[in-house]
Amino acid sequence: MKTIFEKSNDAEGINLVNEVNKIDFLPENLLRSENVKLPQLSELDVMRHYKELSDKNFCIEKGFYPLGSCTMKYNPKVNEFLSSLEGFDIHPNTEDSKSQGSLKLMYNLQNALLEVTGMDAITLQPSAGAHGELTGMMIIKKYFDTIGEKRTKVIVPDSAHGTNPASAKMAGFDIVEIKSNDKGQVDIEALKSVLNADIAAIMMTNPNTLGIFEENIKEISDIMHSNGSLLYYDGANFNAIMGYTNPKLMGFDVVHLNLHKTFSTPHGGGGPGAGVVAVVEKLRDYLPSPIIDYDGKMYFRNYDIKHSIGSVKDFSGNFGVLVRAYAYILMMGKNLKHASENAVLNANYLKEKLKKYYNLPYDEPCMHEFVITGEKQKSENGVSTLNIAKALMDKDTHPPTVYFPLIVHEAIMIEPTESENKQVLDDFINAMIEIANECRNNPQYVLDAPHNTPVLKIDEVNAARHPDLNFKG
Ligand SMILES: *Cc1c(COP(=O)(O)O)cnc(C)c1O
Repeated sequence: MKTIFEKSNDAEGINLVNEVNKIDFLPENLLRSENVKLPQLSELDVMRHYKELSDKNFCIEKGFYPLGSCTMKYNPKVNEFLSSLEGFDIHPNTEDSKSQGSLKLMYNLQNALLEVTGMDAITLQPSAGAHGELTGMMIIKKYFDTIGEKRTKVIVPDSAHGTNPASAKMAGFDIVEIKSNDKGQVDIEALKSVLNADIAAIMMTNPNTLGIFEENIKEISDIMHSNGSLLYYDGANFNAIMGYTNPKLMGFDVVHLNLHKTFSTPHGGGGPGAGVVAVVEKLRDYLPSPIIDYDGKMYFRNYDIKHSIGSVKDFSGNFGVLVRAYAYILMMGKNLKHASENAVLNANYLKEKLKKYYNLPYDEPCMHEFVITGEKQKSENGVSTLNIAKALMDKDTHPPTVYFPLIVHEAIMIEPTESENKQVLDDFINAMIEIANECRNNPQYVLDAPHNTPVLKIDEVNAARHPDLNFKG
């Protein structure tokens, strides 16, 4: 090692080439022929560089983030502190007797989530909503295999999130899509027309991706159950119903929750998540192993799960996300219900204010989110939903989700969450009204947006076809 330190003091800078070349297992043609050109910068330079980059980024700490379906609520900073407390960083293979605190936290979180979902058993392992869907579908598959029923198909409404059919397919099912009715809900007749002994399950989101509560959910679950099929609940929209109702009451058998959405972990950009899966009693024995258990004295990892589909994630899932969720639930307590109340109130306020300016395809009370469209602006002013989204970036707002759900043309899907106050909502309303006016008076300005962002309009086609992946120093 001494030679490396000596060389690093070399006037020519860090020169490890000769040292590296001594490693004789590397083939000759892979060895470096010249020194690595490492930038020579001070810590202060590097810090300023990254701070400047971070300032260009848009985040919930900076402004309104009404990204429909994603529940970009405020993530209390105390959660970050708690999840990084000393003691929570133990090696995940530490034996149970020496990790009682972490196991107790997971056990308590399991119970809290069972209470809010109404379900009977739960796994904390899956690391995202989509991962939870796959886990749930594998549970359903194994269940029918075990009881000796050959059911090969899963029903998915046409308003579903794309991960739903993808997950069912990955678990080995074929997909049967059914149309929504003119109220944006599952069409009961369409459902009945595809039912037969092949159907294993239906995957539903309630409230659905239009932000509309499926008012026939009890009838749907009765129909499915009398066909011997199961119901899967995509809980991405759980923020709308906490404490008011739960998937068990609606008749669902398998549920995933996106802890990173509803229970406050910073997400987006592919960060770690948690897509816990809860089930009714008869599916308990199919959960991934281990689940966290308590025998009255000790918390322990229980691997004794009769028909377990096996482990779906190393160790106990994304533990840091579990800590944040537990902290959030404890802090909120009964106020979880108020979070849902305010999320729904905020969405309805925005919807009522914006419907005079944008088309509203389903004009009825919404839950925590709603979908308007840019169809009017497109047909009258030649300005698309994408342009409207870009124009919002000039007004210190993250654009809403666009072009989803797929059944709504030029969709703009808005979810304000409970975190925002009336001033923020009013500013957003004014921004949307301003853009609607600009579409009429100066459409070219909206077509050219954004005007004020660090990166202006990007050539998306070119970027996709000819990506430049080189770093040039
Ligand atoms: C976000 C979302 C998912 C997928 O969840 P991830 O955690 O992103 O994998 C599934 N369904 C709906 C309705 C969603 O909004």
